[in-house]
This record gives sequence, structure tokens and C-alpha cells, in this order.
Amino acid sequence: MSSEAVGTSLLIGRFQPFHHGHLQVVSKIAGESSQLIIGIGSAQYSHTLENPFTAGERHVMISESLKEAGIHNHYLVPVVDINRYSTWVSHVESMVPPFDRVYSNNPLTKRLFHEAGYEVTGAPMFNRAEYSGTKVRERMMRDDSWRELVPEAVVRMVERIDGIGRMRELAGLE
Ligand code: NAD
Repeated sequence: MSSEAVGTSLLIGRFQPFHHGHLQVVSKIAGESSQLIIGIGSAQYSHTLENPFTAGERHVMISESLKEAGIHNHYLVPVVDINRYSTWVSHVESMVPPFDRVYSNNPLTKRLFHEAGYEVTGAPMFNRAEYSGTKVRERMMRDDSWRELVPEAVVRMVERIDGIGRMRELAGLE
């Protein structure tokens, strides 16, 4: 943590799956914050091509990746979606520890927290050409060079649950 670290920050995402871009932005924000809350969004979804992994599987992927990266000043909280955008920030507040500021690049997330009075900071993007959930899932579906895009702990979890087989079967490829 840097000597300028202040307050508690929130980063919310689906992390389907957690990749090296996520790890780099988490590392940066954790270094700028006393504590970082990571909301595992759309927690109710799994077993779809867009959201293949459960909240529990994502929890282990992230917590093990951060432990191995030496990042310890964080809380991980699953957050299910609600179908009413105007009350979503209150819903998040009811699920996570108190926080001072929000990091996001998601336009809807930014707008909702901004309207609720929070300081919202755009998170820096790292190698977005390769480190994107969509691209990682596309490569996983083909079982082609996806391991280099995610932390080792994510590889272990995907292999443990036969995540590639799950995705290929859901896509009708097996
Ligand atoms: P995501 O996993 O795509 O991204 C998470 C964060 O990581 C984002 O801030 C993104 O900009 C950042 N990121 C992604 N790639 C990166 C890279 N290469 N380098 C650096 N940073 C990178 O998740 P998302 O789609 O932004 O998730 C938003 C969540 O909020 C979803 O779960 C959504 O359902 C939820 N949400 C729900 C409601 C509601 O239920 N009413 C409303 C708003 C948002």
C-alpha cells in the first residue's frame, strides 16, 4: 500500500473470468486504497456462455489470485443483480462494507454511483486488446491459448471444474 493510500474503494465487475487486466487494475487500486471491496457482480448467473462461472467459483479464482499476488487489503462480496437500476446503488450499499469511492469503466455503473453522490474514477485499462472477458471466453470455447490471459489460480479452478467442457457443451460443441 502506498503512503498516499486513503479510504475504502469499490470495484464491481462480473469477472467472467478474472483475467490479467483485472489483476493489474486491482493491484493498482489496492495500492491506492486502505481497503478495496471487490463486488462479484451478476452473482446469480452461471452456466451461460456470457456468464459461465458461479459466484463461488469466481470467489476462489479472485481470492487465490490475489493471495498469490501478495494483495491482502480487500473484501470479496458477491452481489446479485436487481431489475431496478434506480435502486441498485442502495442494494450494493446494503451488501458490502461502507466505501468512499468507486472505480469503474462501465457506463451504467459509473452513472448510477455518480447520481448517488459518490466519487467515481475511471479505472485504467491494461492491454484491452487481449485482456477482455469476451476474448478470454472465446479462446476458452476453442480451448486455444487462454491460459496465458489469466492468473494461474484461474487456470486451476477452470481445470478443476472442467470449465472448458462446460462451455463447449453449453455451446453445443460437444
Ligand atoms: P467486467 O468483469 O467486464 O469488468 C470489471 C471491471 O474491470 C470494469 O471496471 C472494467 O472496466 C475493468 N476491466 C476489464 N478489463 C480490463 C482491463 N483489461 N484492464 C483494466 N481493467 C479492466 O464487469 P462489468 O460488466 O463492468 O460489471 C458490472 C457489474 O455491475 C455487472 O455484474 C452488472 O450486472 C452490475 N450492475 C448491475 C445493475 C443492476 O442489477 N441493476 C446495475 C449496474 C451494474
